[in-house]
Amino acid sequence: MAFDKIFLNARFDGGARHHIAVKDGRIAALLPADAPASGAETIDLGNALVVPGFVEGHIHLDTSFYGDAWRPHKPCTDGFNVHERVAFQAENMAEAAPMDVRARNQLDLCIGHGSVGLKSLETILRVREEYKSLIDIQLVAFPQSGILTSPGTPQLLDEAIGLGANLVGGLDPASFDRDVEKHLDVVFGVASKHGVDVDIHLHDMGTLGAFEIEQIAARTRALGMEGHVAISHAYGLGDITADQLKGVADILARSGVAIMTNAPGARNFPPILALRGAGVTVFSGNDNIRDSWWPYGDGDMLRRATTLGYRSGFNVDEELRIAFDVVTSSGAKALRLEGYGLHVGAKADFVTLNAEHVPEAVVAVPQGRAVYKAGMLVALDGRVVGKQR
Ligand SMILES: [Zn+2]
Repeated sequence: MAFDKIFLNARFDGGARHHIAVKDGRIAALLPADAPASGAETIDLGNALVVPGFVEGHIHLDTSFYGDAWRPHKPCTDGFNVHERVAFQAENMAEAAPMDVRARNQLDLCIGHGSVGLKSLETILRVREEYKSLIDIQLVAFPQSGILTSPGTPQLLDEAIGLGANLVGGLDPASFDRDVEKHLDVVFGVASKHGVDVDIHLHDMGTLGAFEIEQIAARTRALGMEGHVAISHAYGLGDITADQLKGVADILARSGVAIMTNAPGARNFPPILALRGAGVTVFSGNDNIRDSWWPYGDGDMLRRATTLGYRSGFNVDEELRIAFDVVTSSGAKALRLEGYGLHVGAKADFVTLNAEHVPEAVVAVPQGRAVYKAGMLVALDGRVVGKQR
């Protein structure tokens, strides 16, 4: 077979060395490292560790100030309150740089660090089109101000899908909209009408959150949407008892509902090992980057793996590999990315890292990465290259 390109001297986690042969943007062969490579353009990776591109499974591209003026964080007046944070956000957004400029800043940050797939909670269709050769973007029609409490929102969600959003979202059906069933009627109604996936933001904690998770899972099974529904945050999973967790985890696994966690700040968050052990797909994202919700976030999913591992108490190599899996393969599974991985037939979307192996990469977060999308260099040392506008 004639190849378009051969990436020489790639080192995979576990130590195997290959030349990666690429044809039409996909991995066409993994050649033995001592095989003669000729007849195609060659790029020597110099025995760098090669890993599949990162999957940013939850980010708000419209709300960040990244690349704009620094805005000091405004705390809630009486403990965390989603309504108040949304109001602060509206004030900040009125003064921020145009949304597409800020969205591009964040996308460049994500691609620079090695993300090849991304799920954003806003419908920035034009920017998605502009970046389509650099990163696969899924857009969620997300009701930031609730569905039932904001008249007209069901129609807006429906229209957003019609305009090209990939998924329909929801937000705290109980605490925000005060009516779990009516809220889920709208979300799953739009999903089944258009045949799109669902991603629901759920901050509700404890047994209230667990109850909503069960209701979402029941809807998922009733509509045969197993594998097409995600719940983001799901804080409730982090503060129910072990017995309650076991029950809910089994329901999630049976219903094919994935859980997104970014292991945020001083909060209980879903226990990654217990959920994975029950068969639940757990993936991750940066969520908010330098915006009205918090000043943190750098668009680097490898650093997110460090945070996930650190907050989960992961120390042994096997656990560090799990943190890495959450930001790579599990993310790809949750987002249903086609052709993900480092096998023959997969898209040639990969990142080179200066690390001995994955466990070291998770704790060291090495810089000096090269990011390839469909076999093309798209970022080097944190900077996007070859962007066409
Ligand atoms: Zn979010």
